[in-house]
Formats: sequence, structure tokens, C-alpha cells
Amino acid sequence: MNSRTAILAFCIGLLCLTGGARAQKAAPYPVVQGKYYKFEKIADGVYYASPELNGTPFPFGSNPFFGANLVVIVNKDDVVLVDSPTTPRAAHALLADLKGLTSKPVRTVINTHWHYDHTDANSVFGPEVQIIAHDYVRQAIEKFDILNNEPFYSSSRNSGRVLVARFQKQVDAETNPARKAALQKSLADAQAALREFTGDIKAIRPTPPNLTYNNRLVLHRGTREIRLLFLGRGHTGGDTVVFLPKERIVATGDLMESRLAYMGSAFFDEWIATLGALNRLDWAVTLPGHGVPFTDKGLVTAYQAYLRDVMAQVAKLRAAGVSPDDAAKRVDLRAHAKSFPDIEDVGAEPRGIRRLYAWMDETGRK
Ligand SMILES: [Zn+2]
Repeated sequence: MNSRTAILAFCIGLLCLTGGARAQKAAPYPVVQGKYYKFEKIADGVYYASPELNGTPFPFGSNPFFGANLVVIVNKDDVVLVDSPTTPRAAHALLADLKGLTSKPVRTVINTHWHYDHTDANSVFGPEVQIIAHDYVRQAIEKFDILNNEPFYSSSRNSGRVLVARFQKQVDAETNPARKAALQKSLADAQAALREFTGDIKAIRPTPPNLTYNNRLVLHRGTREIRLLFLGRGHTGGDTVVFLPKERIVATGDLMESRLAYMGSAFFDEWIATLGALNRLDWAVTLPGHGVPFTDKGLVTAYQAYLRDVMAQVAKLRAAGVSPDDAAKRVDLRAHAKSFPDIEDVGAEPRGIRRLYAWMDETGRK
């Protein structure tokens, strides 16, 4: 496997790609460090939770064993979680770490969309917890046989192994003894996590939300207002944007990340329109499902441009009779690397391009 293939495979494994330099990182936030999660305090009672590997951030800021980055909203009497981790064990780790923030109980979990790394720990939460999502999420979890389909199917099998291979390669190449020792520790941690993960995924019981909505739902928790908004289809058929109007914070799941998102379940032209609606909200900071918090609405505009370019290039390749997997190798998106530095070479994640072909078939788009 050459280095480009290795990077691409790694990215495929992680679902969502790398990078995010243009993401205009907000000023550093105060951190509460848990055993497994780093909690950045974005506003009073609002934390951005990123899973780490024994205190070390994962390469590319994405953890194949724990899933998405989450948002923790601590209210007067309870806690609202935006998204659930990717396995029951990861959820128990999160709940243990939450004790470092608050003794209040989690009473509400919002799934931003149906993908496994945002929902697969739903089963940990008992009937006293409301799991809320768009109607589509319930249908998807009930009907899509999600453990035998993408994105879980490839990602659960590949991402941990690719991560271990990546650390191994770094260890082999490193000559500085101190850095080599640090990398060896990360490698050992990743190998241990991979061994645990193999058992962890057997414990996954896909569990749909027990409260669904189709347009807009507002939670009132003390003085806190939490708006669940369906702004249109995009990353999936039922993406929820969680908007805190007083704090001017928006949690976007994978509808908008600080880097490239997986496109394998996308509705492409609607995604571009939905991102326009996202930018019309009065937000000051976005907390994405993967990556880092960002404050620049220009990054959303840049992602719209990226999607337009993917669609235009793929339409031409498809019209020329190129297969989806060959188109994924040939599409050239390097012009967007300034905004999304995870674009390191020609090519795109093949599951996204396969989906784009299918979407063009469905819609008759050329
Ligand atoms: Zn997703």
C-alpha cells in the first residue's frame, strides 16, 4: 500500500476525512479533561466532547472506536447530549467522564442523523431517557439493516486496523528515541483499543429514537432554549441541526464538519441548499460531528463550492462512461485544499462517488 493509498484507506475507515486548517479555530476554550473525553467549555453549561486515546488526540481528530464528537448541554436539572457514541462501552466511558462535569442525569439524547457513529450507543439509555431525532432516523434504523450496510459495514471493519497500521508505520520511520517511545505507546493503546473494539461491536443493538419530529422541535430546560431544526436533506435524509439561540451555538452533526464529510448517504443539491439555510441562522460558533469548533461562516460557503465541484466533475466523468470507482480516482478537488487541507491528492472517497452516481440515476440529473 503506497502512502497515498494508505492515507485514503485511513480516511475511508474514519468515515469523514481529515484536516480543517481554514476552519478558523475559535480561541482556545477551557478544558475539562476526562479519562476518555476532552470537554471544551464553549459557553456556560455547553461542552464539546472529543474522544481521545488515553489523553492523546486521535490522528485527524477522529476516533474510530468511540465515534463522533458530541455536545453536552448541562441544564438546570438535567443533561442533554447531542449524539451518542458508537458502542455501548464508549457510552459508559462517556457517562463516567461526565461525572467530572456534573452530577445531573442525562435525560435527553439527540441523534443528529442515523449513522452508526452518532447512534449506536442509544441502547445504553433506558426508557426514562428521551432519544430524539428526525422521523427519517427512526425509519433508517428500523429499515436499513444498518450493521450490514454502509457506512458501518466498511468503517467498523477497517478504521481501527488502518489506525494501528498508521501508528506502526510511524514507529518504524521514527529515529528520535523520545518520539519513537511516544508513538510506541500510541501504537500499544490503539492495538488494545482495537482488541476491545472487536468485542464492543458485538454488543451494539441498533435502537431507534423514541421521540421523532419532522420540522422543528424546541426543548425548554430552565432558561435554556434548545431548538432542533430540520433545515432540509443533506448529509442524510434527516439531519438535525441543534441551535442554541441565546448562546449562538449550532451543533451540526455531519451536515457540516470542519473538514470533508462522508457523502455515501447524501442528497447533493439539497445539501447545498440546506447549508445555505444553516448560514442564515445567527450562529457564532459551530460544533461539528467531527473535527474542531469553528467560527467562520466562509467555511460553510467553501463546502458548498466543494460539493458543486464534485457534482460537476462527476457528471462529466459519468457522461463519458467512466465507472463510479474510476471516477473516484480521477476527480480532482485539490482546488479546495486551502479550505479543506485533508485533500492531499487527486481522488475522492469512493462510497461518496458511488452514492453520487446513484443519486444522479434517481433524480435524472446529469
Ligand atoms: Zn455521518
